[in-house]
Amino acid sequence: MDSFDLVIKGGQVATASDSYVADLGISGGRIAAIGTGLSGARSIDATGKLVLPGGVDSHTHIEQPSPPPQKNADTFASGSASAAAGGTTTVICFVGQKKGGSLAEAAADYKAKATQSRIDYSFHLIITDPTPKVLEEELPPLVAEGSRSVKIFLTYDGARLNDAEALRVLAASRKLGALVCVHAEHHELIQHLTAELVAKGLTTPKYHALAKPMVVERECTARIVALAEALDVPIQVFHVSGADSAEEIFRARARGLKVWAETCTQYLVLTADDLDRPGMEGAKYICSPALRTTADQAVLWARIKDGTIHNITSDHAPSRFAGPDGKLCAGPNPPFTKVPNGLTGLAARLPILFSEGVSKGRITVQDFVALGCTNAAKLFGMFPRKGTIAVGSDADIAIWDPARKVTITNALMHHGSDYTPFEGFEATGWPETTLSRGVVVFEDGAPTDTVGHGRFVARAPYDYIKPLGA
Ligand code: MN
Ligand code: MN
Repeated sequence: MDSFDLVIKGGQVATASDSYVADLGISGGRIAAIGTGLSGARSIDATGKLVLPGGVDSHTHIEQPSPPPQKNADTFASGSASAAAGGTTTVICFVGQKKGGSLAEAAADYKAKATQSRIDYSFHLIITDPTPKVLEEELPPLVAEGSRSVKIFLTYDGARLNDAEALRVLAASRKLGALVCVHAEHHELIQHLTAELVAKGLTTPKYHALAKPMVVERECTARIVALAEALDVPIQVFHVSGADSAEEIFRARARGLKVWAETCTQYLVLTADDLDRPGMEGAKYICSPALRTTADQAVLWARIKDGTIHNITSDHAPSRFAGPDGKLCAGPNPPFTKVPNGLTGLAARLPILFSEGVSKGRITVQDFVALGCTNAAKLFGMFPRKGTIAVGSDADIAIWDPARKVTITNALMHHGSDYTPFEGFEATGWPETTLSRGVVVFEDGAPTDTVGHGRFVARAPYDYIKPLGA
C-alpha cells in the first residue's frame, strides 16, 4: 500500500545530533514517518547518500534594491535556484528601509518580489532611520506578522546608525521581541583611513583591506556588545571575519550575554591576498568586512568548534563583474571606494563548509548540520519546522553524495552573477537533490520548474529573543 506521497529510501540520515540509516516518509509537505520498509506513491533511492536537513542561510541579499547604477544580480527566481543548487531550502533576506523612507512601504514592495522564490524565506528588517513613526507605528505590525529580527548598520553612508540611534532600535526591539543583527565596523575610522589612502593614490582593490583593518571591526563589535548588554537585548553580530572580533564575541558569551555570531564562507577560504589579483580581478573579492589572513581562518575554525561562532552564512550579495551595474560600474579601473561591496555564495556555502569541514576532518557531519541548518533555524525562531529531520518538520531535505568531487565553476552556481569568487575550488561532497516541503526544487544539475513555490516563514516569539531580565 502506498501510504506516503514520497519516500526517500535507505539514506544515511543525519541531524545535528544523530546519524542513522532510515527511510523518510513524506506526506503533505512534511516528514510523516521515519522508519524502514516505508512505501509511497513515489520514491527516491538514497542508498549510499547522506540525507540532510535543507540548509538555512540566515544572511542573504536577494533582489534587494541598491543605489543606482549598482544592481543586485539576482531575482528571487535565480537566487532561490542558487540556494537550492547548494542544498539550501530556507533563506532570510532583507527588507531595507531607505534613509528617510517608509519601512512599511519597503516591506510591501519586497514581499511582492519574494513571491517568486522557489524555496521558503523570511525577512530581517533593516532600519536606517529610527524615527518615532518607524519604531512605534511601522515596526510593530511587521514584527507581529513574523519578521522577528531587525538589522542595523554601524557603517555605510545612507544606512548607518549612530550610537544614539542604535540604542533606540535596541530598545524598541527588546520591547517587541525581535533579535537585532548588526554590521559592526567603525565608520569614522574607515572614513579616515580611506581618505589617507586616496590622498596617496593608493586605490587598487588590495587597499580595501587596509581601509577596513581588523581593528575597525574589533572596536565596533565590542561597542555594540556593550550597548546590547546595557539595555539587555539579544543580538547576533554578523560576519565575524577573524580572530579579534571573534575574541570579543567569546568574551561577551563568557559573561553570559545573549550574543551570537556568524561567520561566512568567504572568511574561511579566501584571504586579503585575493584582493591583490592582477588587474581589476581583485574587485571580485571586495566585501565588508574585508577578507583577512590564513591565521584568522585558523582562529575562526577554533571558534566554530568551541561554539563562539554559532552558524555559517553566505552573506550572498551578488553583483555582476562586467556591465554597467556591476563591480566595474564606475569605469574599467575604479578606485576601491567605488566598487560595490559583496560576494555571491548561496550555492557555494554548504559544499565549501562540507568539504573544508567534514571532508577534511575538522568537524563531524552533525556539526555541519548544526552550523549550516539547525542553529540558524533555532536562533531565528524557525525550529523545529526548519533545520532538522523529524516527524512533523517540513520536508526540506538535501540528498548529498559525500564522496563526489566537484570543481566549482560559475555555471554550477545557478545565480544571476557572471562570476563566483570560488571559481576553481575543489570540493569533496556535493548536494545532488534538494526538496522544499516535499517538492523537488533541484535535481540532475538543474532547478526544476518551481518559481513561486516558496512561502513566507512567519516567526512567533521564542526563547532566544527573551532578554536576560537584567
Ligand atoms: Mn554586512
Ligand atoms: Mn550582508
